[in-house]
This record gives sequence, structure tokens and C-alpha cells, in this order.
Amino acid sequence: MRYTDIAIIGGGLSGSTAAAMLGRAGISAVLIDPHESYPADFRVEKLSGHTQVDRFLRTGIGESVLRRATFAGENWIARFGHLLDKAPSRQFNILYDSLVNAVRDEIPASVERIWAKAVSLETSSERQKVVLSNGETLSARLVVLANGLNVGLRHQLGITRKIVSACHSISIGFDVVPAGRNAFGFPALTYFSERPSDRIPYITLFPVGTRMRANLFVYRGFDDPWLHDLRRAPAETLNAALPRLKRITGAFDISGELKIRPVDLYVNDAGGLHGLALVGDAFSTSCPVAGTGCDKVFTDVERLCNVYIPQWLASDGMDAAKIAGFYADPVKRDCDEWSAAKAFDFRSVSIATSPYWTAQRWARFIAWSAQGLLRPLGGANFLGHSSSSSSSSSSSRSSSSSSSSLSSSA
Ligand SMILES: Cc1cc2nc3c(=O)[nH]c(=O)nc-3n(C[C@H](O)[C@H](O)[C@H](O)COP(=O)(O)OP(=O)(O)OC[C@H]3O[C@@H](n4cnc5c(N)ncnc54)[C@H](O)[C@@H]3O)c2cc1C
Repeated sequence: MRYTDIAIIGGGLSGSTAAAMLGRAGISAVLIDPHESYPADFRVEKLSGHTQVDRFLRTGIGESVLRRATFAGENWIARFGHLLDKAPSRQFNILYDSLVNAVRDEIPASVERIWAKAVSLETSSERQKVVLSNGETLSARLVVLANGLNVGLRHQLGITRKIVSACHSISIGFDVVPAGRNAFGFPALTYFSERPSDRIPYITLFPVGTRMRANLFVYRGFDDPWLHDLRRAPAETLNAALPRLKRITGAFDISGELKIRPVDLYVNDAGGLHGLALVGDAFSTSCPVAGTGCDKVFTDVERLCNVYIPQWLASDGMDAAKIAGFYADPVKRDCDEWSAAKAFDFRSVSIATSPYWTAQRWARFIAWSAQGLLRPLGGANFLGHSSSSSSSSSSSRSSSSSSSSLSSSA
């Protein structure tokens, strides 16, 4: 039997961030995950916006991890084939396996890592017992359950799952390459749907290293024939749905494999269980269209590791009443509620046809256009780069751009 204060089950973004934070705080912790190196997986591919990046920076590891990302300091906004704005942006583009592996590099050596699966879990108000697939047993004061979408252990513990919205959206990831020329003319682009009937909120194109990635989102059933058409003839199906996209991007081809992932929105109820705290997707999922999953991950982990775990370890026991404080944390609750509301608002503003949502759609279009018109031509963005100079770059930005944006905003 091995002994530790904290056993973290799951070494994805949540669990690896928690391991790095606890290790840096000198708290005894063990990280358990089946994969020594996080494998390729289609999840978040860019961290963007001031709020999300600031949340990551609050964990204390964001700065060095984001240096590995490709930075885009400007994002073009377009709809109906018209460029509406060249908006300053704070996008850090990185594939999920690279992101998680970069976070894992921030875990101090004092945190033990076990490359195995947790196969069973017994909880109590004092110590928790974790049995691993390699035959080992671990005793911990607290288990941080960060095992994402895997339901096995939660079923075992009788944790109930409330499905809020089944197949709320579908995310599609692929690479695009310019046809007949070397580079795209935009640094990064968000192109909004042309018609609600297409059931597409938007497509976003952004550089990751030398590749141009595309994330396309749709509100459709997973058995919708449109997805079959997209798999069979990706470029033609996309062009039919967004016929004026090429006015902005120029001609392009789709290269490599299409990754298609449906997302259910759910919340797990772990209240009442001793010795166990759920974080990230293990607690509740988010809609990729709204792009709030990492806000939830960073908020959960930051609150848990900075505020609650040090408090809990300072007194005896680890009963459910202690842990209830974490689920009731106002910062966590605000973030969860904001994420859930954004998932439904995005869906309505993209596909609802009521007068209210139609008006909302036009209001956004007018706001983007006005913002674009008011933005001084060639004016400096928050990085100090001029809009015109950044728009001429087509693919990657060097990591020095990442660091300048971080230090200027930190
Ligand atoms: C297609 C897609 C696109 C997305 N896009 C965005 C976006 O643009 N913006 C955004 O903010 N969010 C986005 N998200 C959400 C974001 O990716 C997730 O919220 C986040 O990755 C969750 O991380 P996690 O660590 O909680 O779970 P995971 O990354 O799933 O990690 C779970 C870990 O647990 C391990 N594990 C499972 N079972 C066990 C076990 N029994 N024992 C030990 N280990 C175990 C797994 O191996 C894995 O390493 C997207 C999600 C998807 C699916």
C-alpha cells in the first residue's frame, strides 16, 4: 500500500494542472493515468480570450505552457462573405496532446506518477482506497477525480449523472491548405453562419505551428446524413453550407483526417460523498461552440488547489461537509452557470428563428460591423503589433510573440 495526501485520478488537462499546482505547493500528491504521454485526441485546440487565458495564468503554470503555443494577435471576423472586423485577439493555438504534455512538464519531480488505470475506489470520511490496474493499492486523504468522460468509477460510486442536453453540438476538426498559393491572407478567422437552416454557428481557422487548423461546429444529430456527406466530400459539403467563405479565405483544400466529436452536456452529482472532489469534465461538460470547457477546468483546479485543499489538509478528516464548500464556491458556481448559459444562448442565436433571436443575430452582425468600422485603420492592437502587419502573416507566430503578449498582460 502506498500512502499520499492527494491521489489524482486522470492526467488530462484538469488532473495534470492539479498535479503541477499541488507539487509546487509542496503538497504530497500522486498522479494516476494510463498514458505516460498524452495521446492525440480531438479536444480544445486553442485557448483564447482574456478571461480564459487569465484563468490559466492564475494556476501559476500558464505562462510557460503558453510559450509552446502558436500565438495569433488578430482574428478576422466575417459573415455573408464580408470581412466585418480585424479584431485584436489573444489566441494561443495548440493541439490537445501538446497542451496536456506541456502541462505535465510543469509537474515537479516530488509528485509521483503512476501509469495505470484506477479500477476501483472506496471512500470514507478519513482515508480513500484506490486500486490500480497494475495491482497496486493507494491510500489517500483525498481523491481528485479528473477522469473526464470515463463513467466507470462514477457508476461504481453511485454518482448520478444529469443529462442537460444530449448531442448538444458536434465539433469537427481538420487541416486546411491554401489552393494554388503558399499561404492564407489572414492570421486567424472566425466565419459565422450564413443561414440558421445550415445549423452551423461558425467555423474558426487558426494557425498551429505551420498548419492551418479548422474547427467547424454544427447543431445536428449524430446520424444526420449531412455528416455522412461531409465525411465523403468534405470541401464540397462545406462550400455548399458556407458558399461565401471562400471570398475571405481564397480557395482551399481540406487535408488529412476529419475528426468528428458529438458533445453531451451533463452534470454529475457527487455531493454527499466523502473524500472525493470532481473537477473538469468529470464534474460537468461544456459546449465546444461556447469554448468554455477550459474556463471550467482552470477555475475548478485553481479554486481546489489554491483555496480548499490547503484548508482541508489543515484539519482531521475529509468528510462530505468539507468538500461541499468547493462545490458551493461562488467563483466556481459563477463559471459553471455562465458556461451552461452560453451553451444555450449560442445555440439559439445560431439556429432559432423566433423574432427575438433573429433580432439578436442581426444585432451581433451590426455590432461587429460597427466595431470594424470604428477601429482605426492600421491602429496598434494590445500587443503593439499593427493590424496590417499581423494580417499579412498566414501561419505561425513565433513563441517570442507568445511571451511578449503574456508579459504585457500579466
Ligand atoms: C471536440 C472538443 C472541442 C473542444 N473545444 C473547446 C474549446 O474550443 N475551448 C474550450 O475551452 N474547451 C473546449 N473543449 C472542452 C475541453 O477540451 C475539456 O473541457 C477538457 O479537455 C477537459 O479536460 P479533463 O482533464 O477534465 O478531461 P480529459 O482531458 O478527458 O482527461 C481525463 C483523463 O483521465 C484519464 N482517465 C480516464 N479514466 C481513468 C481511470 N480509470 N484511471 C486513471 N485515469 C483515467 C484519461 O486517460 C485522461 O487522461 C472541447 C471539447 C471537445 C470534446
